[in-house]
Order: sequence, then C-alpha cells, then structure tokens
Amino acid sequence: MAQEHCVIIGNGPAANAAATALRENTPDLDVTIIGEESFPHYRPHLLPDYVAGKLRREDLYVTPTSYYESCNIKVRLGQKVVAVDFDRRELVLSHKEIVSFDALIITCGARQRIPEKLQVFQDLFLTLKTPYDAGKWVARLQSTDSVLIVGGDLTSLVFAKALASMEKKVLFLLEEESFWPIPLSSDVADQVRHRLSEKGIKVVDGSCIRRLAQRSHDSIEVETDRDPCRVGAVGAFFGLVPNVKFLVRSGLDIERGILVDEYLRTHFDLVYAAGDCAQIYHPGLRDYWVSIGYQNAIEQGKIAANNLLGGVCAVEISPASIFLAEGMMVNTSWWMEF
Ligand SMILES: Cc1cc2nc3c(=O)[nH]c(=O)nc-3n(C[C@H](O)[C@H](O)[C@H](O)COP(=O)(O)OP(=O)(O)OC[C@H]3O[C@@H](n4cnc5c(N)ncnc54)[C@H](O)[C@@H]3O)c2cc1C
Repeated sequence: MAQEHCVIIGNGPAANAAATALRENTPDLDVTIIGEESFPHYRPHLLPDYVAGKLRREDLYVTPTSYYESCNIKVRLGQKVVAVDFDRRELVLSHKEIVSFDALIITCGARQRIPEKLQVFQDLFLTLKTPYDAGKWVARLQSTDSVLIVGGDLTSLVFAKALASMEKKVLFLLEEESFWPIPLSSDVADQVRHRLSEKGIKVVDGSCIRRLAQRSHDSIEVETDRDPCRVGAVGAFFGLVPNVKFLVRSGLDIERGILVDEYLRTHFDLVYAAGDCAQIYHPGLRDYWVSIGYQNAIEQGKIAANNLLGGVCAVEISPASIFLAEGMMVNTSWWMEF
C-alpha cells in the first residue's frame, strides 16, 4: 500500500482510529478523511451535557488540527460523498469533484431514524446527533420550559436527565417500541419509569402521538391517545440507522448496513467498512450483527485499517453485550452505562 491513496469516508471515531492506525504503520501512504459535517472530530456522547450548559463547545472536540498536520493526514470537511464507483476506484463529492482511491474505509456512521408514521411531523421534531442539532436545542431551550421526549433510545434517557438538570419540565412517552435495541419488557419499563421519575421526569405510559401543531414559536400542541398537552419542544429519539443511502446503487452488498465479514472486508478488494454503518458476519453464529457505541467504532476502525495493511484480525463480540432487536443482533455495552 505504500505511496498509494487510502480514502476514509466519515470523520467520526471509527474514521479517526483508522486514519491513526494507517499512519502509524505506513508512513508513505496518502491518507484522506472526507467528512460531510463541517465540525472537527467530536464526541457525540457529550452532546447532552453541552446542551445542558455543562460543557463548552470546544470540549466536544477530540483531535486538534495540528495533529493531522503533524501526521500528514489530509482532512476534507463539509464534503459529502454522493456516489462511489468501485470498479473505477473513484468517489464523487456533492460538488461533482471526483476523488480517486486505491483503498477505501467506509465509516459513514448512522443517522437518526424517524418512524414512517411520524415523518409527517418531522419538521416539528428536534433530534440530537451532531453539534448542529445541539445548537438548535440550545437556542430552543432559551425560550421554553417544557419538553416532550418521544420514541426512546439510549440517547433519550441521558438527554432527558440533562434536561431535568436544567430544571426543564420533561414528559416522556413510553410505548412498546421505546428503547430500541432493548425490547420493552415490563421489567425494563418499570426500571425506566422508576429511574426517570427519580429525576423528576414524568412518564406517560403506552401512549402515542396522533397530531402535533405548532401554535407559536415556543408552543407545540400535542394530541396523544391520552391527554393532550402543550410543550415548547418535542425531541424524537427512535434509534439510529446506518447512513448508507448514497451507496445503494454502488454494487456494495447492503442490508441494514454495509455487509462485511468478520475482518470488516466488503466483497470489493481493499474496501472495508467499520463502526455504526457496518453489518458484520459472525461465522460461529452464522448471522450478521450490527454494533453501536463509541468504543466499538474505535476498535473496528483500527481493525479495518490493520487488515487493509495485511493484518488478519477478526472483530470479537462479547455475548454479554448482545441484544436481539427486531430479529437483528445488536452489540453494545453502552446501555449498561445508564
Ligand atoms: C447524542 C449521542 C449520545 C451518544 N452516547 C453514547 C454513549 O454514551 N456511549 C457510546 O458508546 N456511544 C454513544 N453514542 C453512539 C456513538 O457516538 C456512535 O456509536 C459512534 O459515534 C459511531 O461512530 P462511527 O465512527 O461509526 O460513526 P459516526 O460517529 O456517526 O460518524 C460518521 C461520520 O461519517 C460522516 N458521513 C456520513 N455520511 C457521509 C457521506 N456521505 N460523505 C462524507 N461523510 C459522511 C459523518 O459526517 C460523520 O463524520 C451516542 C451518540 C449520540 C448521537
């Protein structure tokens, strides 16, 4: 691989771990990170504390620009890959530029999921995935005291707690589908209800949204199958889905995420996928699994890079951190941290 060009799509933890591992092992390789967002590499798990005013914006960021300069890693931010031609070894950016590569590591992560039945209300929902989303929350919370959280995923618990710590009135809609990837058994529901109410968060059980209407800048009318209410903001937290739409016609095998073997290889030579966007085969289980979580992404970024350079390292999963969700195995230790 010396003197050749490896492109990494994405600028999250998987991408940065991959870039560092490539540079550590191959001083001559050209390494380019291409990230859609214009922010430097940040820690998404700190966004709730940032919204709550406990951190400054700069505390979110992981890697200073000087690091990339010192290791000669090229970083192109605010540039979205819209297509990849694996036969020609080229990718296309949204402004039509074509970038050639010899090897590719895809770490394009995941995006917030809004269930189809609620997409009609999409413009009224706030989500929390990027510093841009966090900025919208910060602005909205300046003029509102009440927030409704719908859906429920790992982030929503932490975020609801952060809102309560700001003395905001938080309502939490708990329904069967809440808390993907954990199936909502009555045990889990009791635990969640108990923990949230300890923080002063009111949990509304078994209810779903029927209608939302913006009444003024800071007032949204919410009609559920229980009592109607008015809140200043509605946060939608329905889990994350791999960000792979731009790859659908590329010839890459995609199911939920990008299908890779346990070495994170796709079926194209020298093309790997890692982190939240990958769906990984487990030969022992004879099935695919997906992973979510910051540490998993870092681990996989390193493994993809080392295997690209000739290593033979398989991704390992611990049975303790595997959940079955909607027929799919999900690997995360993140839930346990709540
Ligand atoms: C609010 C929040 C709280 C979280 N809390 C925790 C926690 O407490 N513990 C934990 O373990 N995990 C947590 N997570 C999950 C964790 O952050 C993710 O699992 C992890 O960031 C995944 O890393 P990744 O590198 O695979 O993808 P991401 O971090 O999602 O990065 C994907 C990158 O790809 C870029 N990209 C996407 N599409 C394109 C494209 N077409 N062209 C160019 N670039 C593209 C994006 O801009 C981004 O830079 C949290 C996530 C969120 C949002």
